[in-house]
Amino acid sequence: MSLSQMARSICESPTLRLNETAALLREKGEPVIHLGGGEPKSKTPIDAIVSCTALLNTGDVKYTPADGIPALKKAIIRYTEEHYGRLAAPENVIASSGAKQSIMVFLHAILDPHEEVIFPTPYWVSYPEMIKLAGGVPVPVTARDGGFQPTVEEMAEAVGPYTKAVILNSPNNPSGAVYSDEFVAGVVELCEKRSLYLVMDDTYNRLIFDGRTPTNCYHFSHDQSLDTSKLVVVNCVSKMYAMTGFRIGWAVGNRELIRAMTNIQSQETSGPAAPSQWAAVGALNGVQSPVDALRLTLENNRNVMMSRLESFAGVKAVKPGGTFYCFPDFSAYERDSQKLSRMLLDKVRVVTVPGKEFGMEGHLRLSFCGTLKEITEGIDRIKWALDPDAPNELYLGGRKLVRDWQ
Ligand code: PLP
Repeated sequence: MSLSQMARSICESPTLRLNETAALLREKGEPVIHLGGGEPKSKTPIDAIVSCTALLNTGDVKYTPADGIPALKKAIIRYTEEHYGRLAAPENVIASSGAKQSIMVFLHAILDPHEEVIFPTPYWVSYPEMIKLAGGVPVPVTARDGGFQPTVEEMAEAVGPYTKAVILNSPNNPSGAVYSDEFVAGVVELCEKRSLYLVMDDTYNRLIFDGRTPTNCYHFSHDQSLDTSKLVVVNCVSKMYAMTGFRIGWAVGNRELIRAMTNIQSQETSGPAAPSQWAAVGALNGVQSPVDALRLTLENNRNVMMSRLESFAGVKAVKPGGTFYCFPDFSAYERDSQKLSRMLLDKVRVVTVPGKEFGMEGHLRLSFCGTLKEITEGIDRIKWALDPDAPNELYLGGRKLVRDWQ
């Protein structure tokens, strides 16, 4: 079959592939615990359902403007004012089918072939592939100290004549790390000095723990006008409202850029699905207690996962400050994260995501968005599989397993 060079260079999303694997094994009756997931368990907020069904009840579900319905843009403008203290105009806003599409049309709008986009390691699995899809070159920056946040100097060293943009994602998928204000301030300054676009992927910024408040990148910007700034803030309803299936995200940026992104989106997909846009209006304008409830549940889940991991000799886990991911270092047991992840699925039916997919070998991404039972049993199974001091028998769904490896 003849496929383009581009198609041949793009990998399948490993996290979506793992979801399918877990679903297939569950269908076969296997007692799978999915610690690889990327979506909260809570239900769609009622205000989103009411708003969405109000449209469906009219039976009048039609195309929308390519950059989103005015009601959604208005809700995003209000959200931006409340959470970022910036007054955006409708022309500064584009609503897309998920944050993923907002980032994708952004990349298409700014990149010429071989131009580079910089982002810290570990990174969301999709950044490198999305940058390649837009004809660009991904440039991950790994902290020399082996941690989850490089220094501003390390980011600056990666800037070259072909650099066009930087992407920061904090709290971070997969590490759960919240970048320090000093780091964000330094990167904002670097981008302004070098005239680079800076995307703040704030997908998880309301799922932040320990009473911290999310970092507002605009605080560090010297550019007071949205229309001259190269800062682009991306967000979505997917995680904070647990509305992954609705596929609504957005970007706020300068109007020239947003116009270019809208033109691209209008040719690619047209506007996002109208019922989903109305659901997002309901979520954004409705009561916000579902976000707080989700955050508190996740914080408790994080604490349970951390205490379980702390009793696990050899595993190094840094406490996540937000998101619903933890990114422990398992290299004391196995450095090849793909091999380790496969072994845990084969032997004890626990789904994890190999750190290699996020640019950091030796780690596994473990999600704590499931139930407490899944978290505790999942970690206990992993411990049983890896810890040579554990008893060599384990009961899995009524089946006795005997550890015959190590
Ligand atoms: N950005 C990050 C860092 C993510 O982890 C995800 C989803 O996992 C997205 C963006 C995509 O969000 P959406 O589902 O709204 O496309």
